Amino acid sequence: MSTAQELRETAKERLSLYQGTLTGALEKYRYLPFVLAGNEDIKQLLTTSQNDPYFSDTVSRSLAATNNKAESNVLYVMDSKGNTLASSNWTEENSFVGHNYSFRPYFTDAMQGKEGRFFAIGTVSGIPGFYMSHPVYGKSGIIGVVIVKVNLAPLQRQWRDGGETVFISDQNSVVFLSSRDDWLYKTLNPISDERMQQIQSVKQYGNSSLEQLAFRSSKLAGETITEINKKKFLETIWEISNQNWNLHYLFPVDLIKERQRTTTTIGAVLLITILVAALFVRERRQKQISSRRALEAEKIQIINQQLEIEIDEHRRTEKELRSAQDGLVQAGKLAALGQMSAAIAHEINQPIAAMRTFVASARLLLQRGRIEELDNSLQNVSSLTERMGSITGQLKTFARKAPIKLEPVEIKQAISRAIALIQPLIESENVDFNIDIPDSPLYVEGDEIRLEQVFVNLLRNAIDAMETIDKKRLDVFIEQKNSNVIIRVRDTGTGLDDTIIDQLYDPFFTTKSNSEGLGLGLSISYGIVQDLKGSIEATNHSNGGAEFLITFPSYKKTTD
Ligand code: ADP
Repeated sequence: MSTAQELRETAKERLSLYQGTLTGALEKYRYLPFVLAGNEDIKQLLTTSQNDPYFSDTVSRSLAATNNKAESNVLYVMDSKGNTLASSNWTEENSFVGHNYSFRPYFTDAMQGKEGRFFAIGTVSGIPGFYMSHPVYGKSGIIGVVIVKVNLAPLQRQWRDGGETVFISDQNSVVFLSSRDDWLYKTLNPISDERMQQIQSVKQYGNSSLEQLAFRSSKLAGETITEINKKKFLETIWEISNQNWNLHYLFPVDLIKERQRTTTTIGAVLLITILVAALFVRERRQKQISSRRALEAEKIQIINQQLEIEIDEHRRTEKELRSAQDGLVQAGKLAALGQMSAAIAHEINQPIAAMRTFVASARLLLQRGRIEELDNSLQNVSSLTERMGSITGQLKTFARKAPIKLEPVEIKQAISRAIALIQPLIESENVDFNIDIPDSPLYVEGDEIRLEQVFVNLLRNAIDAMETIDKKRLDVFIEQKNSNVIIRVRDTGTGLDDTIIDQLYDPFFTTKSNSEGLGLGLSISYGIVQDLKGSIEATNHSNGGAEFLITFPSYKKTTD
């Protein structure tokens, strides 16, 4: 909120509060004259006992008691000529008794059967007060008037003590209640001579000459800036309509500046942020508006062209993404290759060593002429080379960047090939490996090489997760459920921490040390599974360890 706005809100709140206290102070006494007008003693005083000072004192005494209880300023009774017959201040020096107030509008109003309301400075007391009157009816009509005077000086003091600048001006623009004494009984606008005479005739403001305040009001950015005696204020006015009064609340402009300076420093960063956000929103809106206008102006063709360009761009992006993904797949393969090379080297070294032995012994047999025994050795060499061939064969399929090829794949076959690749690791890590697979073949529509790659990743991750665990058990469950084939890979490893479960499939997310993991395995697997219209989900198993669940729609043969 801007300072001005903030101030406007505050001013409104303050004004409503001030008006509340003012009307509260007045309303409290509103019914008093009406109630007293029905008092039989007062009526009697006004009809029969005008010349009986004793009875007049009795009524005054009773008025004093009521006045005391009601905490009003003065309560008094006037006859139809405006003479005060009884008054609550009858014992005081400036008693109203005997005074004639027929010139006061509250008297003339009441004599016309109306309720009188009038603000004036007391002619006798000099105390400013609000007068409320009510006619007293006798058998022959209005016989007098009862008046309550409410002292507004305490209210004024309260305002002054509040340290704020607030005042009330009447219909003649005379300031008659103000937190600033020096503005009292001065006018905001010039008063015509005629009006001045009228005011003086009812002695509303005593002997005050009703000077004009050096007052100037102007509008600035929707705000009223008022200059009084060379001091500038932000002014808010509240109309007290039933009295024809205006309640003014003024806030010094120099204080606003001070406030602004402070808030500017504090709010600068905030403001800039808001500005940037606003500009961003504006820009976006303007873009929307301009494109709408373009449509309205039948520039659809241009938009169409733009759309085509955009579509082309999207296509290009998609292509790039695809190749990036393929690249990732490739990178993942290389990573997997790297990871497996040690195990494979170990696996290949063994048959090579064995072959050496067999070749050496074959040579010996040859030298000794034991040809018939030679066949056995060569047989062994041949089976070893076959085994090696099968290992390198697997490696070749792994290294080849094959395009995705959808064909029915027997899941058992794919998983078996993955297991074969990971077998050396299973053995070296001493993993208790179990597989539960139905006898009948289960087909999914996929790409065998990529499926293998997913399984290799999952199996390898499972074995890695059990590295520090004593009891290493790896289970693979495969089942057909409804129209899906479900593969579960469960381990007894460290399990998946809640904090990482959401990041598992992010590329390059790994908890393994740099040399071990690239963090691509699961992200590639995820992509492959998605390509094959399947889903992958990671959970923690209740017995500890992680469980990866892959679901593929089972392959349905369609007959043309
Ligand atoms: P990498 O194996 O190179 O770290 P992956 O994408 O295959 O990359 O795996 C990402 C991370 O997911 C691993 O580093 C590991 O923290 C976690 N993770 C994967 N599988 C398992 C599992 N079976 N048990 C526990 N954590 C696992």
